[in-house]
Order: sequence, then structure tokens, then C-alpha cells
Amino acid sequence: MSAVQAQRIKIAIQKSGRLTDNSLDLITRCGLRYSRGKDQLICFGENLPLDILLVRDDDIPSLVQDDVCDLGIVGQNLIEEKRLAFAASGRGTPFEQVMTLDFGLCRLAIAVLEEATYAGPESLRGRRIATSYPFVLGRWLAERGIAAEVVAQSGAVEIAPRLGRADLICDLVSTGSTLAANGLREVERVLESRAALIRTPVPVASEKADWMERLLVRMDGVQRVNGSKYIMLHAPRSALPQITKLLPGNEHPTILPLDGTDERVALHAVCRENVFWETLESLKAAGASAILVLPVEKMLA
Ligand code: ATP
Ligand code: ZN
Repeated sequence: MSAVQAQRIKIAIQKSGRLTDNSLDLITRCGLRYSRGKDQLICFGENLPLDILLVRDDDIPSLVQDDVCDLGIVGQNLIEEKRLAFAASGRGTPFEQVMTLDFGLCRLAIAVLEEATYAGPESLRGRRIATSYPFVLGRWLAERGIAAEVVAQSGAVEIAPRLGRADLICDLVSTGSTLAANGLREVERVLESRAALIRTPVPVASEKADWMERLLVRMDGVQRVNGSKYIMLHAPRSALPQITKLLPGNEHPTILPLDGTDERVALHAVCRENVFWETLESLKAAGASAILVLPVEKMLA
């Protein structure tokens, strides 16, 4: 590796799948402009010392673990599975989860054939469960003292019961429509998951530590404002306690005097959640007027 390359931060994200668009969007909102390499495997950062590696999501934890990439964005389902596998292998320090992200929401769930009966975890005793998450499922079963056979399978888990390879499955679910399409019914939630940022267990070289730190602060800033709104309104001073209570996810509003009146003031506040029409109607009913709601683009805490 050349000295110039060594100073650049590498982040691994999913090449094509459920996490791709949101991962690229997050990186773009951190200020990166990039061009896509011919092989479509690397996006070279043009204005920051940051390059993006596009890979299968399953490969991301190991790339970060082995310090090939400094950072990675991947689902907690894979993070947990790989961490447990890593711990079982008894090797050194594992990669680290830096922050959770607000996309890729899903859960690892146990499902049975629609017509099968299910009466709690005890019903799993001695059954065969197909999954791509043998470590996470194994831990869940062990915590409940249930001996079941875990059938590890890398893909197409949902058809295992129909093929007679297993009695149940443990797989990722978000809406449940894939389960329904395969005649399956969710019975237990094993793990709640969302995308998260992970980092190498190796201390980052001093040449790039500064940019790494700045990038993490920017990602945190993007996460903080997601869904946040800036709200401005005029209100009678006497109605302020009631109006402040109506603001969703608000911390401390700023109150400003209005020219020519003592009774009415202006209120500005950041709301950490979306502001719905119903809230605006309640604010108006409480005496607010000239209500403006603006999106928040960036925030530096
Ligand atoms: P790859 O080719 O990169 O291996 P994949 O098929 O394993 O792709 P996707 O289906 O794109 O991966 O899912 C990527 C991640 O998205 C999952 O690991 C999980 O964290 C998250 N996810 C969110 N909702 C779902 C869902 N309904 N099913 C599967 N994964 C989901
Ligand atoms: Zn995958």
C-alpha cells in the first residue's frame, strides 16, 4: 500500500441490497462527493480522504475485523452473528459498534408452518430449526435452556420446512410478507436489528485519525437531525407552558420578544420528531399563530 493510500479512510457498505441507498445517502450527507470506479467496487472520494468499498453485506464484518476497511455499515443481525462466531473462535479483540443508524430495521424471528401448533419456546425442544444465524439462535435457545437442532443454512431458509429439511425457521423479517408467501407464521422474536456503523479493532493511524473523528461527528450530526423539524411560531406569553408541552420531542425552546407587544412572543424550537398537522392544529387552538415548520439539514452538538 502506498503512503498516500494509507492516509485514506475506507468504509465498506453493501454493494446492492436493502442497505445500499441509505448507506450512500448517509455518506453523501457527511459531505462526500465521489466517483464510481470502473469495476463498480470502489467509489473514490473526490473532496475528502474517504473511499467506499462496495461488497456483499456478509463480508463487511470480516473486512473491518481484519482492518482492510476502517469502517463498515451493516445490519446488527450480522454484527451479532459474527461477534459470537468470533468470540467462539477465541481470537483477539473484535471489531466495535460505533453507532446505530436509523434504517435497515428488521428482526430475527422464529416462524412455524401456518397450520402447525405452537405453545411457547418449550415447543422447540428437539425440533429442527433452519437459519443463517446459528450463533444468535444458539444463544437464544441456550438462554432458555432449550435443546433444539440448529440447521445452519446460508440462503433460502424460508423453504426449508416445505423441503423437509427443518420443522421451523429462524430468519429476518420486516413486514412479514415473505413469511406469509411461504405459508409461515412468526412465533418468537429472537433479535431486533437495524443498520449500524462498525470500526476496526486496530487503532487508526495518526495521519487519518483526525478525519476519522470528523467523519464520526458528521455521521452523528446527520443521525441527530433525521426527522427533526425546526418550528417557529407566535404565541401569547400566558399560553407558553401549554404550547411547550405540545411540541414533540422538544428540549428547550427559545423565546424572543416581538416588537410593539409585551403579551405576544416568538418561540423557536427544534423538535426531534416529525410535526404533524394535528400538532399544528392543537398549537393554533392553544393560541399560536404564524406557525412555520422547517426541515433541519445539519446539526453540530
Ligand atoms: P448480499 O448480496 O449483500 O449478501 P443479502 O440478500 O444478504 O445481500 P439484503 O436482503 O439486501 O441482503 O439485506 C441486507 C440487510 O438488510 C440485512 O442483513 C438486514 O440487516 C436488513 N434488512 C432489513 N429488512 C430486511 C428483511 N425484510 N429481510 C432481510 N433483511 C432485512
Ligand atoms: Zn448477505
